[in-house]
Amino acid sequence: MIRFETFYICCPNCGSYLEGKRLKSEMVNQSILYSDGKTLNDNYITEPQKMVICPACNHWFWIDDFVEPLVSGQKPDVFYTWNNWRFYGVKFGSNDGKVALIKHYKDFLTKVKLDEEKELYFRRLLWWAYNDFVRDKYQISLKYLFSGKMSFGVWIKNRRKIISGIRFFKSVHAEYVENLRRLNELLDGRYIPSDERYEAANLERIEILREMGSFNEAAVMLAVIPRRTHYIANIAKRVKKKDFWPFLVTG
Ligand SMILES: [Zn+2]
Repeated sequence: MIRFETFYICCPNCGSYLEGKRLKSEMVNQSILYSDGKTLNDNYITEPQKMVICPACNHWFWIDDFVEPLVSGQKPDVFYTWNNWRFYGVKFGSNDGKVALIKHYKDFLTKVKLDEEKELYFRRLLWWAYNDFVRDKYQISLKYLFSGKMSFGVWIKNRRKIISGIRFFKSVHAEYVENLRRLNELLDGRYIPSDERYEAANLERIEILREMGSFNEAAVMLAVIPRRTHYIANIAKRVKKKDFWPFLVTG
């Protein structure tokens, strides 16, 4: 059973090939959705990595569309595997790896010539990277331990990591809020009601406002949302409680 489609990216600077993989949507067993929009299919993030740092020559390049000539399905003789360049080689298992990822996104925001599309992309991923420290906060509860999803030993280790992650998250909270403020500004007025993305962008803005602690503004926007899904009701409940943490929607 082949679960991934494999493609190869050719570095525009040195011509090295980098292997990339895309999970086949029909093969996905489990989909996890968080309130900030980050979605994991079988633990793989669904958002494509558009910014690449070549592991051979360190050249930074942006991929708008994964199409030829930059990207092809033809397997070259020699190539760097996905793990060599995916998320800039950062290891997600540790908090140090997560800190390194934040640094990459901040670098891109200051060192890449940005149009609004790129800025939006980097700021959204930066938001998710900060939230990665706290998005699984629910797992530190005893209730989670008793659900039997982790052994006691694993739970203790995981709990320690999350608690230290929460500490880090709080220490960078001012820059976290500043990123959200700019993200909200970029999305505000970006779409008109007839745009396909209009409703999704409004929901994203409500969640941004909630997570940055602007509960009144979030409530004003919520009041005019026509649809009431389980997700929206959940956000509304948290806005009322002045709860700013990201949360697990399904998974
Ligand atoms: Zn290169």
